[in-house]
Amino acid sequence: MVLALYNTLTRKKERFVPLQDKRFRIYDCGPTVWAEQHIGNLYRYIVSDVLRRALRYSGYDVTEVMNITDVGAIVGDVDAGEDRMAVAARREGLDPLAVAEKYADLFFRDGARLNIERADIVSKATEHIPEMQALIQTLLDKGHAYVAADGVYFDVSSWPEYGKLSKKPLDELVAGARIEINPNKRNPADFALWRAAKPDDLQKWPSPWGEGKPGWHIECSAMAMKYLGPTLDLHSGGEDHIFPHHECEIAQSEAATGKPFSRCWMHVYFLRVEGQGMHKSIGNVYTVSDIIERGYDPIAFRLLALGAHYRTPLNFTWDSLGAQQERLVRWRSNLKRFYRDSGASATDELTADLRDEFVAAIEDDLNTASALAVVEKALHRANLAESREERAAVVGRIFDLDRVLGLSLREAAVAQDELTAEEARLLRERDAARAAKDWKKADGLRADLLKQGIRVHDEKNGTTRWERI
Ligand code: AMP
Ligand code: ZN
Repeated sequence: MVLALYNTLTRKKERFVPLQDKRFRIYDCGPTVWAEQHIGNLYRYIVSDVLRRALRYSGYDVTEVMNITDVGAIVGDVDAGEDRMAVAARREGLDPLAVAEKYADLFFRDGARLNIERADIVSKATEHIPEMQALIQTLLDKGHAYVAADGVYFDVSSWPEYGKLSKKPLDELVAGARIEINPNKRNPADFALWRAAKPDDLQKWPSPWGEGKPGWHIECSAMAMKYLGPTLDLHSGGEDHIFPHHECEIAQSEAATGKPFSRCWMHVYFLRVEGQGMHKSIGNVYTVSDIIERGYDPIAFRLLALGAHYRTPLNFTWDSLGAQQERLVRWRSNLKRFYRDSGASATDELTADLRDEFVAAIEDDLNTASALAVVEKALHRANLAESREERAAVVGRIFDLDRVLGLSLREAAVAQDELTAEEARLLRERDAARAAKDWKKADGLRADLLKQGIRVHDEKNGTTRWERI
């Protein structure tokens, strides 16, 4: 598979071959662990997960690094804003690292509920302060940064390419609403690499420029280059990261190394709820726990996410989630039936057309919606199969393709249904009635079980079998 991915840097879809043969090095901007992540945040990581799975499916050796921002993020992402970890620490009466641990745990719990695999390297910002300081020192030595009264700033005038990702000219960036006027900055567009500590700061480290903490952007550059080298194959994030975060990452990384920082930049558009942005004031900030509490399977949300394209805004509604839940239940029950009937064989050339069509969809800038249509087509073919061999081949192929989609289709099809304690009791009672030749009672119990969705079959050899309908 040679993926064609839309590269924000070039504004083009490009066929993408990694720098080093079969190795694919990805850096994905991780969460700020100051609050519970909502379904928009997690949607973003579903897209990263599908990309990683697709690359592995086609034989790449993927190394992905994801950071945990546990220091340095600012409310509103402006240098003068309040520190997010400090806000959370105050809100919860915990120290910032306890806040970080709590929300990182919830993030990984929700990721697991959505079948999002963990990045190979998860790196906490607070554990990489020396690397960040070394990078800041390099920028100072090369004349791309300066020390001011309240920290160290990157000097955007020293880097003519600043603006190349967001395609904004510098004067427009300077006029941008997010850039505040700070008398310590030489240029309003300069951004903080290191912030001097304020008296009540809970997080601070010693540095050659006085006690303080790193800026958010430098965290990602330092950790990405530590684990993946100066040039990455791909860097991903949300559409909000294009400016300022990724613009700043590029400037400081390339100014320090003189090498291109990332060859491809991938940005996921935001999820919206009922056509609106998510806001506490609207009351539409939902989490994975909300999805479960309303009786939906989190994997139905994953299916909903895969039905959209990552470069168009995904509109979440409870109705659309319900429709995807129905689709998931239908897929699972059909697969269960096919699997029980015919099993699943190893993938072979009989189903190569399905694989090729699926791969072509994914290769086309992760067109997951078309990839799902291939699964629908495969299910249809399994249904109409003229032999058990054919059906087993198609089922095996669906399981194979699900390595990319991550919908746990094999697990659902192969799982043995279990009876609830009450159902098992009724079944035992019915067996006893049959043994006592009390046919009336046995038939009554059969009807009771049917009402609960359990159909009982009496086999010729005297045993009974049940199925959930
Ligand atoms: P944060 O924890 O605020 O740093 O955000 C974590 C990630 O979620 C970032 O990559 C954001 O771009 C992304 N994100 C935030 N809101 C949304 C949304 N509504 N839809 C998709 N991604 C989002
Ligand atoms: Zn980042």
